[in-house]
Amino acid sequence: MKKLKDKILSDGKVLSESVLKVDSFLNHQIDPPLMQAIGEEFALRFKEDGITKILTLESSGIAPAMMTGLVLGVPAVFARKRKSLTLVDHLYTASVHSYTKNETNDISVSKDFLQKDDVVLVMDDFLANGQAALGLLDIVEQAGAKLAGIGIVIEKGFQPGGGLLRERGIRVETLANISSLENGKVTFFEEAKN
Ligand code: 5GP
Repeated sequence: MKKLKDKILSDGKVLSESVLKVDSFLNHQIDPPLMQAIGEEFALRFKEDGITKILTLESSGIAPAMMTGLVLGVPAVFARKRKSLTLVDHLYTASVHSYTKNETNDISVSKDFLQKDDVVLVMDDFLANGQAALGLLDIVEQAGAKLAGIGIVIEKGFQPGGGLLRERGIRVETLANISSLENGKVTFFEEAKN
């Protein structure tokens, strides 16, 4: 998606050979017109798949998931990283290991918002090692719902997550697929690989 790639090139900050900072438009400050365009693009890609629900992870997945839900006309549910006091039982939970933060957290979703007749589009801001996506897939499985695919805003294609998921036969759609962050520079795979 050209608009997103241009934004990454102009505003993204390469922190290391494996970490890209995009907190001026996605991870802290949010760019609404860009999120709208992202939502329209995902909706276009998944419009034939009978999606009934979008499932993401707080907090950075919420903006793109909500815009996609708006265009598809379906709710967006976000898994919580901390257990809410009002959400004790009646939860699907999964463990997610973050390599960037070197910690493992439980994520949870209320059973009220995901059921076995749902067709789910799992979304996230980044795909790196695939742990967040696997945690969300675990929750979809626990609900007995059907997975339509995964929508990722920025994939770091040089890390193993994308391969891991596609090897399992899962459809993964990414809007910007980065091939390298070497020498402080963002390089993308050719469009056909996205
Ligand atoms: P994974 O579980 O695929 O290893 O990592 C995905 C999660 O880690 C995303 O939800 C995202 O929040 C975070 N993440 C991984 N790599 C990056 C990165 O380069 N930049 C930012 N901003 N977040 C990242």
